[in-house]
Amino acid sequence: MILDGKIIANEKMEKLREEFDNISDKYKITPELKLVQVGNDPASTIYANSKIKRGIKLGITVTLEKFVDITQNKLINYIIGYNNKKEINGIMIESPLPTGFNFQDAVNNISFYKDSDGMTSYNQGNLYTKNEMIAPATARAVVDILEYYKIPEGNACIINRSAVVGRPLAMLLLNRDYTVTLCHSKTVCIKKIARENDILIAAVGKANFIDSSYVTGKSTVIDVGINYSGIKIYGDVNFDSVYRVAKNISPVPGGVGIVTATDIFENFLNGLKYQLNHHLT
Ligand code: NAP
Repeated sequence: MILDGKIIANEKMEKLREEFDNISDKYKITPELKLVQVGNDPASTIYANSKIKRGIKLGITVTLEKFVDITQNKLINYIIGYNNKKEINGIMIESPLPTGFNFQDAVNNISFYKDSDGMTSYNQGNLYTKNEMIAPATARAVVDILEYYKIPEGNACIINRSAVVGRPLAMLLLNRDYTVTLCHSKTVCIKKIARENDILIAAVGKANFIDSSYVTGKSTVIDVGINYSGIKIYGDVNFDSVYRVAKNISPVPGGVGIVTATDIFENFLNGLKYQLNHHLT
């Protein structure tokens, strides 16, 4: 079966729109998400613009602040300024930051309830104690797909150990009773591990890295990879090769990416509700 992310994203967008409309009516506000981009990375600009479009569909304001000539300290000062503005309800630093910047240090200056990307160490740490109010959106998206298609709690192998994907995803899966193995570039016998697990989540960052030799007829394969050739987007999974063998597979595009794009707004909504309940906005 193809695990279509578009259906999930469309359903989520409808629910989110309803919630934002209710909040706007009740509190007479138009919530605002502030995107911060440093430099001119083309993929980063595409993602920022798609969030602005999604914001319009959701009836909220998404603004992009673009810096070209700025230092890490000045960036942090801007972040602190946005934190202090009651009318800004979410802040997201677009990645990658240019060489010389420390992404995690910059992100950690965002108040946890305005951290729409779920990347602050505080929100990441909360996952350990099953507080998932705000979670890294990509990890949330993988879980959304597994839950939507009712893939049972089994053994899951994640090929990735980054703070964006593998580590938070391991926590979210553990919180749902999956048994998790994290693999990375120093892991030996990855193919064997992948084949022994019911679920294979690939976030290697290499186009078509996973082929049918990594899976069996019982495998559910979730492809997190986004590899842009300049013309086309490729996943980390060779779809044609794996589709012939595996039980389930998520496509690229139309899989994890589109659900991630909506989950940023789920984080934003949860943070907004926290701000309203604690009179912070
Ligand atoms: P990353 O930090 O570069 O992580 C890549 C991971 O893959 C690392 O853990 C690395 O191991 C491992 N790896 C690399 N080569 C390997 C190999 N030959 N064998 C086994 N493991 C290997 O990248 P990331 O930011 O986590 O992103 C990973 C992928 O997900 C990228 O394609 C990215 O574009 C995509 N992504 C998608 C979304 C979405 O919404 N769909 C969001 C974020 C990222 P080491 O730790 O040992 O280096």
